[in-house]
Amino acid sequence: MNDIIIKKMQEIVGADYVVSHLDKVASYCEDETEKAVKPKVCTDCIVVKPSTAEEISEIMKYANENKLPVMARGGGTSLSGAAVAIMPTIIVSMERMNRIIEVDETSMTVECEAGVTLLQIGEHFSKHDTLYFPIHPGDEGAQVGGLVVMNAGGVRAVRYGVMRDQVKALEVVLPTGEIIHAGGKLIKNNAGLDIKDLIIGSEGILGIVTKATLSIKPKDKYTGSLLVSFENEEDAVKAVTEMFKAGIRPLAVEYMEKTAILRAAKDIGMTWPSDVGNVDLYFIVSERKEDDLYEMYETIVGICDENNALDSFVAESSKEQRTLLEIRSHVYPSMHKMVVDAIDAAIPMKNLSRYMEGIKNINNKYGVEISTIGHIGDGNLHNSILTEDASKPECYDQISDEIFKLVIQCQGSITGEHGVGKVRNEKLKMQFTEKELQIMKAIKNVFDPNNILNPGTAL
Ligand SMILES: Cc1cc2nc3c(=O)[nH]c(=O)nc-3n(C[C@H](O)[C@H](O)[C@H](O)COP(=O)(O)OP(=O)(O)OC[C@H]3O[C@@H](n4cnc5c(N)ncnc54)[C@H](O)[C@@H]3O)c2cc1C
Repeated sequence: MNDIIIKKMQEIVGADYVVSHLDKVASYCEDETEKAVKPKVCTDCIVVKPSTAEEISEIMKYANENKLPVMARGGGTSLSGAAVAIMPTIIVSMERMNRIIEVDETSMTVECEAGVTLLQIGEHFSKHDTLYFPIHPGDEGAQVGGLVVMNAGGVRAVRYGVMRDQVKALEVVLPTGEIIHAGGKLIKNNAGLDIKDLIIGSEGILGIVTKATLSIKPKDKYTGSLLVSFENEEDAVKAVTEMFKAGIRPLAVEYMEKTAILRAAKDIGMTWPSDVGNVDLYFIVSERKEDDLYEMYETIVGICDENNALDSFVAESSKEQRTLLEIRSHVYPSMHKMVVDAIDAAIPMKNLSRYMEGIKNINNKYGVEISTIGHIGDGNLHNSILTEDASKPECYDQISDEIFKLVIQCQGSITGEHGVGKVRNEKLKMQFTEKELQIMKAIKNVFDPNNILNPGTAL
């Protein structure tokens, strides 16, 4: 990276907060995207660690004048290549902007700097008796800014929605250097076009989020887990649909193929409590009163039984609950060394069985394992294409094309939570018309006329 740029960055944030040695820069240049599909990483980058929105504003003004690519860096946990540098880039690491500014119990909000991690928020509220932040995607290293712009979801979205449903207000530095504020601690707000909602889910291409005000929720006192096994996915989907119709909203409903969950248990030397059937539903239930918790178990089991459940298991003790959670959390790590690509389509509930059947057909047609687990309550499944050593099979392009065609036939979205990043850009054409894509590109152009902020991402 050019010495003049390094010097300018040192002037803005201080020499201690600029990293330019290759060995230290490299880990900031990529994210958690699967190796087989990850774009080629460029390490000719510089990492800058600002501590205020004003410093970021100075960085952006300089980069914009000189047409230099910039990329915000959160926890680096993206699974879609969004945080991969693909050209010489000024990487703005948000790690020093890590203050939880205020918990407002009246408005039920928490205001954070964008570099606050999910782990920090969790620890902060673990000391709080009555309130917490409910969104919990799988990696606690993710930061508030990354969660906002990736519109993260995770297992609890079934009850609380996704990040879009939690964000009340944002402070954002634009690619041209201005600092703007969008939204507020309001319940209703109909003034003007909603810039806040444009930034949420923008994958870091419209501006750098520096602060966010997020809604928080009352803590339930009683939580528990329930496992129900089924012969096939159709019965499991039907049970979930009937549960929603009955007005039941557990904290989480996860779908797991038996092969995947047994592999995870074996990998960590633990025992999964059910070995019947081919698929499991894993419910996390939480209620204010103990009686309500038991009533909830009974209602869910009743609905599952009516839909041909084979077996059910209530994790009564906290040890049993921890075991289930530990094994479920290990599903992805246990197959990580085999994952070529993990597709996270979202499908309307009414087409979910058809989609799952289609995936099985693709699996059988190509003889390549496609493992399905995911957030069934949101219609958001994770289909992982597996090979022994995670190398792309010859038929990878055909498999991937067929899966995405199936997604569109089922009126789904090519990504439910991981985003387009730098790995699904080509597939956008399958979901949107030319006009719709033109509108998105025109919006990007208004925010970022020189296309300096994370080019090649999201569009
Ligand atoms: C094991 C594992 C499990 C996961 N489970 C889930 C899940 O269940 N649900 C889910 O939704 N996701 C999940 N993810 C994906 C990931 O955690 C989310 O996408 C998360 O929101 C990324 O946040 P981050 O801080 O790591 O962002 P990064 O990876 O650092 O960056 C991602 C994108 O956000 C941009 N960005 C980061 N910070 C800012 C900022 N302050 N302002 C503007 N742009 C910014 C980057 O430029 C990049 O484009 C999982 C990831 C892993 C590794």
